[in-house]
Amino acid sequence: MTVTKQDLLVGIDHDREEIVSFLRGFVATPSPNPPGDTTQAASYITRFLDGERLPYRLVAPQPTMANIVGTFEGGAPGRHLVLNGHIDVFPVDESEPWTHGPWSGKLADDKIWGRGVADMKAGTAASIFTYRYLHRIRDQLKGKLTLTCVSDEETFGPWGARWLMDNEPEVLGDCCLNGEPSSPLSVRFGEKAPFWLKFTVRTPGAHGAYTHYSASASKIAGRLMADLERLTEIPTPAPGNVGAALEAGADAMDAAMGHGAAAIAQKVTLNIGRIEGGLKVNIIPGSCSFEADIRLPVGYDKSHVLPHVAAILRDYPEVTMEEINSSEPAYCDPFGEMMRIIQANVKDLRGFEPTPIISLGGTDARLWRQRGIPAYVYGPFPTGMAQKDEVVPVEDYLHVVRTHLLSAFDYLSRT
Ligand SMILES: [Zn+2]
Repeated sequence: MTVTKQDLLVGIDHDREEIVSFLRGFVATPSPNPPGDTTQAASYITRFLDGERLPYRLVAPQPTMANIVGTFEGGAPGRHLVLNGHIDVFPVDESEPWTHGPWSGKLADDKIWGRGVADMKAGTAASIFTYRYLHRIRDQLKGKLTLTCVSDEETFGPWGARWLMDNEPEVLGDCCLNGEPSSPLSVRFGEKAPFWLKFTVRTPGAHGAYTHYSASASKIAGRLMADLERLTEIPTPAPGNVGAALEAGADAMDAAMGHGAAAIAQKVTLNIGRIEGGLKVNIIPGSCSFEADIRLPVGYDKSHVLPHVAAILRDYPEVTMEEINSSEPAYCDPFGEMMRIIQANVKDLRGFEPTPIISLGGTDARLWRQRGIPAYVYGPFPTGMAQKDEVVPVEDYLHVVRTHLLSAFDYLSRT
């Protein structure tokens, strides 16, 4: 008997307790990164997969940062969809008082509480249940479905999705679906990329009263920081059809990421994340260094910004610079097939169409896009992400599970 989308939804309603309790237990299995040890949380997932007799294997080039990769074939040839989510979460600032403990997975006020529930254990759980439900009806599907639950995401580390990309070509596929927080109101088709630079100023330094002896490394650093702000004015018009999408999605971006998000989506931004300099109040610092977190908009890599940095540094002979991290921003078609599938399903489920937008922060979805594979992100609101009181309302979580399941089903029902 052919299973319909309506049957799948009935199944989710029937299994509601199980789906909620899986996420609560997943959150209550800590996996903060750093240090990034996901042994327990990965075992939590594999116990579930074992219990359901679902195919998977562990890929652990770094023993404490395992990745779970599972694949099955449908009953007919077709396309290959990849589900991707990460297992590691941000660490917890123990000095911050949480309403419910960060590793409690508590169910209160119709919400699930805890570190990593939004970023992104709810989304990863949506991938896992999508894999489970579609495996049961694999004979009626076309193509192939791959589940990837990865480690080492929160620090842009090398042992998770990056390692799979380079060493396990089967995770590439024809399209990727990811449940990082996006807000139910929007689907993310691209993201900005980090480009991090460290600047070091050196001067002779001197006694604090002898200002005629030496320039101050910290004062020079202060002037340089102010000058670097000019990077945020570099013109970076949106490429291709991204401009049209961003214009239409401006309100959704502000709703999902706070007022002002849309205004910086297609701009270079600058954050000075760390400053270090000086020994004592009465010594002129002979050394001062700081780290700049530049974010590049889609369509522009670091080669677009570096000449501007070099031009600014011409006025600063005392300064050396080193690159500490960089990635290429990437995007896929804001109006592509999986986008339209997700929009149609959300419209059916909730009565509105989520808007295509760009993500300000980074996700593993970029790795697929950088290889030319469309990757779309649809997940819960980022409430409390990297702060205290991270929560996901139960209804939003179930909505993400439904949307992922129905969208994967649609994609694998077509040829
Ligand atoms: Zn994340």
